[in-house]
Amino acid sequence: AKTHDKGSSAIFDEAMHTRVVDRLRFETDLRAALERHEFELYYQPIIDLRTGRTRSFEVLLHWRHPSRGLLTPDQFLSVAEETDLMRPIGLWAVEEACRQLAAWRLEAPDSSPSHLAVNLSDREFWNPDLVDNIADCLQTHRLAPGSLAVEITESVLLRDPDEVGAILDRLRALGCELHIDDFGTGFSSLEALPKLPIDALKIDKSFVGGLGRDPRSEQLVKTILRMGQSLDLKLIAEGVETEEQHQALAGFGCHYGQGYLFCEPVPPEAAITVIRRHAAL
Ligand code: C2E
Ligand code: CA
Ligand code: CA
Ligand code: CA
Repeated sequence: AKTHDKGSSAIFDEAMHTRVVDRLRFETDLRAALERHEFELYYQPIIDLRTGRTRSFEVLLHWRHPSRGLLTPDQFLSVAEETDLMRPIGLWAVEEACRQLAAWRLEAPDSSPSHLAVNLSDREFWNPDLVDNIADCLQTHRLAPGSLAVEITESVLLRDPDEVGAILDRLRALGCELHIDDFGTGFSSLEALPKLPIDALKIDKSFVGGLGRDPRSEQLVKTILRMGQSLDLKLIAEGVETEEQHQALAGFGCHYGQGYLFCEPVPPEAAITVIRRHAAL
């Protein structure tokens, strides 16, 4: 039994070694990706459920990896967030989103979206330069207040509410809308919510996916919607994939939706077509 154990642990070590090397190589690649211009932004429309018009686009970061192909954020952002890479990469995304919005305003002045929604990770949110960086981006591209919404997750709200509130107030002062992402999946204290300058809740796709299938999800969605309505917040459902979910959400009074039913995240050339199509509605 002893030799057997030895054998399997050698195999185990080798597998682990491979994993560590892979991970290191991945991190090295990620470190070089900014300089090599390998990041691209994809855009997913957020639809007004009453009118079918596009209210805005959420900006989703993709990485065109030299050998692995196009990677979605779930495939690399956790590595960025665990290292010192999230802040520079996130700043690139905000900057590029601002550049793109300014370009769309020139190309399609009547139909360009009123704003773009960018995601901020915990590390980005707690970057002392965050607000100045966003202010610089808006100014460089001469974007009016109201051009950006920022999506933060509930985990950010777990810290000292005064500290969180101070940063949110400064973002608000720049005209940013403030959205709580993945709402319902975290552990944010509900009593903090009314005290913070929040504009919208995004209902997590895991709950939306349960509509019509799982009574508990349906109950949760209704509860979140009711709470949001009582706080006068805008409500955005993510991951809307079926017409049934769309109708249920509209029936419960949800204002906006986003998901494959309407449009998947698309590169900027395709987003402009979506903009033009919706302008014609
Ligand atoms: P999120 O903010 O919750 O974004 C929604 C995710 O749902 C996106 O995954 C989107 O592609 C996906 N999605 C959209 N419609 C549907 C649908 O109908 N069904 C399903 N099943 N999924 C749908 P994605 O693109 O993989 O992004 C993952 C996460 O990465 C995002 O989650 C966001 O937290 C983060 N992220 C993306 N871009 C950035 C960025 O530029 N900066 C930061 N800090 N985070 C980002
Ligand atoms: Ca988001
Ligand atoms: Ca989500
Ligand atoms: Ca998320």
